[in-house]
Order: sequence, then C-alpha cells, then structure tokens
Amino acid sequence: MEYKRSSALFAEASKVIPGGVNSPVRAFKGVGGTPIFIKEAKGAYLYDEDGNQYIDYINSWGPMILGHAFDPVVNAVIERAKKGTSFGTPTELETKIAELAVSMVPNIDKIRFVNSGTEACMSAIRLARGYTGKDKIIKFSGCYHGHSDSFLIAAGSGLSTFGVPNSPGVTQGTAQDTLLANYNDIENVRQLFEANKDEIAAVIIEPVAGNMGCIPPREGFLQALRTVCSENGALLIFDEVMTGFRLSKGGAQELFDIKADIVCFGKVIGGGLPVGAFAAREEIMNFLAPLGPVYQAGTLSGNPLAMAAGYEMLKRLNEDEEVFNRLEEKTLYLENGIREVIANNNVSFTINRVGSMISVHFDKNHVYDFETAKNGDNDQFKAFFHGLLNEGVYIAPSAYETWFITDALTYDDLDKTIRAIDKVTANMK
Ligand SMILES: *Cc1c(COP(=O)(O)O)cnc(C)c1O
Repeated sequence: MEYKRSSALFAEASKVIPGGVNSPVRAFKGVGGTPIFIKEAKGAYLYDEDGNQYIDYINSWGPMILGHAFDPVVNAVIERAKKGTSFGTPTELETKIAELAVSMVPNIDKIRFVNSGTEACMSAIRLARGYTGKDKIIKFSGCYHGHSDSFLIAAGSGLSTFGVPNSPGVTQGTAQDTLLANYNDIENVRQLFEANKDEIAAVIIEPVAGNMGCIPPREGFLQALRTVCSENGALLIFDEVMTGFRLSKGGAQELFDIKADIVCFGKVIGGGLPVGAFAAREEIMNFLAPLGPVYQAGTLSGNPLAMAAGYEMLKRLNEDEEVFNRLEEKTLYLENGIREVIANNNVSFTINRVGSMISVHFDKNHVYDFETAKNGDNDQFKAFFHGLLNEGVYIAPSAYETWFITDALTYDDLDKTIRAIDKVTANMK
C-alpha cells in the first residue's frame, strides 16, 4: 500500500500540532511509521487519503459500535443542526436521553452529561470526595480514566506506549492522594484500606480493563471489591466509558450483576460525538450543583448535536434485542479463527476477550494485570500491526489497546481478517 498523501499530511500537521496529532494514541510511536490520515468511513470500513480501504477494528476507540456514518445518527445530527447547534439552555432532548440511559442502566436514578470520558471520571471523583468527605482514591495500575491529574499515575495504554509511567505536571500533592493497586488483586486493595483507614473516598476501576489490552476481572474480584468498599464507607466507581452500552444494555454492572455507586460513561453514549456522562443513585447525584455543594459545569454539556447522536445510538441499542448477542457471536467467531491460525503458525500468544472487546498478546502466559500485560513481545506486535495494515486490517497502533468489534462487520469481513492474520503470523517468529 502507498501512504504518500498521509505522509505529506502528517509532515504538514507536525509543524502546527504537537506530534501531528490531537491525541497521542493516534501517533504510530509504539509501532513505528507515520499515522494514516482517514478521509471517510462507512459501516465497518475506513478509507484513507491515498484511497486505501481497511476493515476497522478501532472504531473511533469504541463509539462506532453500529458502524461508521450510521444513517439514523447522521440524519439526527443533520436535522438537529438546522435548528441551531447550541443554546446554553436546557433542551427537551437532554431529558429524553437521560430517561433512556436511566432505564437501560441498572442502579442509577440520575445522570449528568459532560463532553468526554475524562470529564466524566474527573467529576465522579470530585463527587465521591464531596459525598464522603474523604480525599484519597484507589485506582488500578494499567487502568485509564482520562487525562485529569489524579489519574495520570500508571495509567495504561497511552502512557505505556510512550514509556512514561507518570506525567510531569502532576503535582506531588495530587499524586499522594491516588493509591495504586494491582488489577485482580483483592488482597492488595484490602492492605491499602488497612493502611489508610477512613481516608479513602472511592475505588475507581474499569470493570473489564481495556487500556492494557483487554483484561477480564477474575471470578469474584468485582464482588469482593464491592464488599470491601461497603465495609469501609468508600464508593465504588465503575468507569464504564469503554464497557458501557457495549458489554450489554446495562454495561458491566448488568453483565456481572454488581452494583456500583457511581458509573462513568463516554464513547458509545455519544454515538461518535463528544459526550461523557456520570450517573448514580439520587442521594449521591443530589450532591451536585445546583442542588448540592459539589460544583461541576460545562458550556457545551448536553449539546443538542451530541445529544441527538447519543439518543439515536442508545435508542437502537435499546430496541434491538439481538445486537449484543450478535456482537458476542461475531467476536467469538473472530477469537476462534485467530486462535486457530496463530497456533498453527507456532507463534506464542494469549487472547483475552469479554463480549466485543478482544486483544491479542504475544506472550504465552496468562495476562491478568498490568505487569503481565507488559510481558508481551513488542517487536512481534509491531510486525503484526504493520503486516495487518498492509493487508487492509486496521487495529490500534499499540500493544496495550483492545480491539472494538462493530456490528457492521460481516462474517466475510471476519474471514478476511482471519486469513490476513494467518498470512502475517506465518511470517513472524
Ligand atoms: C477512553 C476512556 C476514558 C477517557 O475518555 P475520553 O473521552 O478520551 O476523555 C476514560 N476511561 C476509560 C475506561 C476509557 O476507555
């Protein structure tokens, strides 16, 4: 494949945008080469500026669960835009999407919309601190909760790809209030509670981790976490920015039958427009301004275009009884196909999957936390990534990312992908 125009556009972009990208994960730093500039997309396919076509397994890092340029979403945005794009006043549409979200997700009474997953997680933590009157939080190594200061400590994919464990610019004071635990290690969490008695406001977790590859919670881990939080008067925050409206209608809470205290959303909830949200039971949400003392605001929060896109997306996911089954079946088919061809080619690997989140790790050992995720062979991953790209299969340019499966994929697309993986891994080792 030729990437002439992409390379030229990247050179131009690099003069005026740091690293040529507006989000570091888009750079090809972890795999070498220069990023591909996408011109348009439809369904399961991306088309780049050089006219190359790809089967897309990033899907805007999750949101396009029903495919790119999904007609109902596109039409809703067009119709809404004609009537004005922002008023800074309440609109009926905000109530409609809030009612729908509250009806789909278990255990939440109220929801507030923001503009990104980062904002949702940052606001959830502030709310938890305000509600409990405590300062410290526990996060897990390798989990990503957006780029706000409290979370930029061992924060998974973006930072791991660049080998920066913690970002400069985060003050010592902020870092001190963030305690780190190992994913899937409940004893570690218990020890932190023991050592910081009555100081911990909340534990925040990706209920299925997706920012160190896909890492499922061990049997009983989330339940134990729920118990430890309740025993210690700390809130359990599920960061469902990735898992929400993807693993099931009600997200991970529904899939694992665990009640979180606060839930964060992003990605799918915006249907491809910039949306995040956080939600909880009434008594917690009423702590927010203007009802309560915890301040949180946004000029473009609940923006009409964004709400129109999100509402259409959630409505389809709510009304289509089979969509999550189809996603499960397609991803299982892909998993089985990949397993077979890589094993035949004698390359060491592990595949992790929950629903339509899946990742391939080039290490034969079980991958269950950040340390084990780091053991993967990055040279092999690079060869895998570039090989697949050349075959017209677009996966994330980092070994620490999950693949996001879209319902727009056909079995023919999946077969092509499996054949491409066969060809590429046959040349690895
Ligand atoms: C993507 C992501 C975020 C951040 O969302 P942005 O919209 O990129 O700010 C937070 N948490 C998780 C689990 C994510 O995957």
